[in-house]
Amino acid sequence: MRAWEQNIRTVVPYVPGEQPQNADIIKLNTNENPYPPAPGVSRALETLDPDLLRRYPDPAAADLTAAIAGYYGMKTGQVFAGVGSDDVLAMAFLTCFCSTEPILFPDITYSFYDVWAELFRIPYEKQPLDEEFRIRTKDYAKKNGGIIFPNPNAPTGIYKPLSEVEEIVSMHPDVIVIVDEAYIDFGGVSARKLLDKYDNLLIAQTFSKSRSMAGMRIGFLLGNETLIGYINDCKYSFNSYTMSQAAIAAGVESIKDQAYFSRCVQNIIDVREWSKIRFMDLGFECTDSMANFLFVTHKEYPAEQLFEMLKKAGIYVRHFQQPARIRNYLRITIGTKEEMEALFACLEQYVKS
Ligand SMILES: *Cc1c(COP(=O)(O)O)cnc(C)c1O
Repeated sequence: MRAWEQNIRTVVPYVPGEQPQNADIIKLNTNENPYPPAPGVSRALETLDPDLLRRYPDPAAADLTAAIAGYYGMKTGQVFAGVGSDDVLAMAFLTCFCSTEPILFPDITYSFYDVWAELFRIPYEKQPLDEEFRIRTKDYAKKNGGIIFPNPNAPTGIYKPLSEVEEIVSMHPDVIVIVDEAYIDFGGVSARKLLDKYDNLLIAQTFSKSRSMAGMRIGFLLGNETLIGYINDCKYSFNSYTMSQAAIAAGVESIKDQAYFSRCVQNIIDVREWSKIRFMDLGFECTDSMANFLFVTHKEYPAEQLFEMLKKAGIYVRHFQQPARIRNYLRITIGTKEEMEALFACLEQYVKS
């Protein structure tokens, strides 16, 4: 070890799903949307005025936050936009989780939460999911420095009814409860309505999944104006110009096209429900996912073996080595009907041979 290394912030980084750059694979491993973004998004990028690129963007990204606020019938000051929800969640951790009490989140969940907690030196305590992979509300009754969970949860896809979300939020008026709604557009009911009632609630959403814009990097928070103000103060103390002109323009166009958005989301829901049945026909067990992915396991065929077999066939899905409880599961993104047909053809051949 070099002398200076004792003064280095060492962290174990988050490991994202593989992003192979060859186009001929079927990519069902990072919950991207198989459909293109709304047509207005491409038009906005094609016609982007180069003079806009010469200048710094609006630090508040007000066109975008106003569009999001308008869409949800909220005030612009209740919206915070950032570079994907990973960015806005990191900023929320930094701003909201400053207690000496541990923050709470599920043991099986988005694996970025403990990475941020470690990075920012926030104490944390994981709460085990029940035997059916559900978040147990009573585990979150204990004293804590804040709470975060996704709804629907990842990688299980299991949705927690709004009444239970409300129970958790209402139990702890003295800490911030973050509901990560990365997958809420695929069938769940957002906790957005609870914002009027609870000023300690913060909601995170993203354009990466339901709006087909993972590559553009847009995420946002919804909360009360005071809380959003504090998060803005931290953001302006870190990087004022997070949202590029391109991202602002593309994001606004996506929000405008509600019909296109609804159609895409409905397609994914339809293919998901059809896929659940196909998986069960092939002897898989499958959680009742409300997201754009399924979480499946097979009694006879180890997940790792299936993962390798599919990869050889050019179909990428996600397999987690950790935690041990989910080692025999695969998380499979809902692709187009054609992509799913190819997946099932491959699985069927394997299971029947
Ligand atoms: C995908 C995902 C995110 C982050 O997505 P961004 O691309 O950074 O917007 C956040 N939380 C969960 C649970 C996710 O699955």
